[in-house]
Amino acid sequence: MKTINDFNFENKKALIRVDFNVPLNNEFEVTDDTRIQSAKPTIIKILEDGGSCVLMSHLGRPKGVEEKFSLQHIVDKVSEVIGVQVKFVNDCVGTDVEQAVAELKSGEILLLENLRFHKEEESGDVAFAEQLSKLGDVYVNDAFGTAHRAHASTAVIAQFFPENKCFGSLLAKEIESIDKVLNNSEKPVTAVLGGAKVSSKITIIENIIDKVDNIIVGGGMTFTFIKAMGGSIGNSLVEDDKLDLALHILQLAKGKGVQIYLPVDAVIADNFSNDANTQIVNTNEIPDGWMGLDVGPKTNELFDSVINKSKTILWNGPLGVFEMESFAKGTIELGNAIDAATQNGAFSLVGGGDSVAAVKQFGFADKVSYVSTGGGAMLESLEGKTLPGIDAILN
Ligand code: AMP
Repeated sequence: MKTINDFNFENKKALIRVDFNVPLNNEFEVTDDTRIQSAKPTIIKILEDGGSCVLMSHLGRPKGVEEKFSLQHIVDKVSEVIGVQVKFVNDCVGTDVEQAVAELKSGEILLLENLRFHKEEESGDVAFAEQLSKLGDVYVNDAFGTAHRAHASTAVIAQFFPENKCFGSLLAKEIESIDKVLNNSEKPVTAVLGGAKVSSKITIIENIIDKVDNIIVGGGMTFTFIKAMGGSIGNSLVEDDKLDLALHILQLAKGKGVQIYLPVDAVIADNFSNDANTQIVNTNEIPDGWMGLDVGPKTNELFDSVINKSKTILWNGPLGVFEMESFAKGTIELGNAIDAATQNGAFSLVGGGDSVAAVKQFGFADKVSYVSTGGGAMLESLEGKTLPGIDAILN
């Protein structure tokens, strides 16, 4: 796996695909600069080598050129985070852009305008990718968030740099973390799968079942399993067309010696709101008119003991409706258990979908070993899919 550490960038122009798809407020100020911070190590390494950086990214989902999606809005923030005044050019291909790149000196950074102002970016147009490829000597992909897309700047472009292409340090770290959990893991390995629906996690379960020792199930999908096993789930979230599938997963796990832990008790509510009436009951004895919105204390104890013994932990999805304070406790307790296990030497990876939001909201981001920066890309990695952005650098 070639990374930026295999190159000396002295007097070289690095064309870097970053993921600067950051949230902006109504005044077009960046409200969360995590993604810019994440790209910093790659940019600094190249500048310190004596090279220059041409940064390309998308922002939002513009339909053609839309001022509100201009990357001009983030120039000051990128300059502040990197500590270098960033130059900007108001397109990403063409002679003006090529001229701006030609004038770029060692130690300088040029940010290109939003790639998605050209529809050819998302369609993966080869001619557009070739135009982009003129803007650097070495192509660096550091955008995990778009690694599952076969776009011009994330995958197609790599063919124009047969020797001079590599991963940035963020993308390399993402690949290493997934590998550490799924392929080179220290046992026992525990995957926590929470969130809303079984249907969105089934491919993950099928892919990881050969690689883990324990699967902890939480969140809304609990109730499809409980109902399939004959329990009463009241008005809890359920996918009735997935009952057979839930039984199939339980059978599959049994056959492979994988332990599946389901919640034994639940915090139930008489409606889907933070100030609903609540009580704690066994997960398979939920009365009609009530729905399970979080795991209960016995479940937390059970899950804690499993996490405590684990050496590798993957966490995808909250254990309850964590957005409401009344139903956040199970997710917080799980975070505390993963924090403690990590302090005891376990490797913990959080990623995919909503998990990152939960982890950030409760301040666990610094307490786990690694928080993935790519929701969809992480999910597809866990599903065992080949990501075009990664494949294009490797092959
Ligand atoms: P996902 O994107 O699949 O990880 O799902 C995350 C969502 O699942 C969050 O918005 C949670 O509020 C929701 N969720 C978690 N537990 C439950 C539950 N018991 N009932 C309904 N929704 C839930």
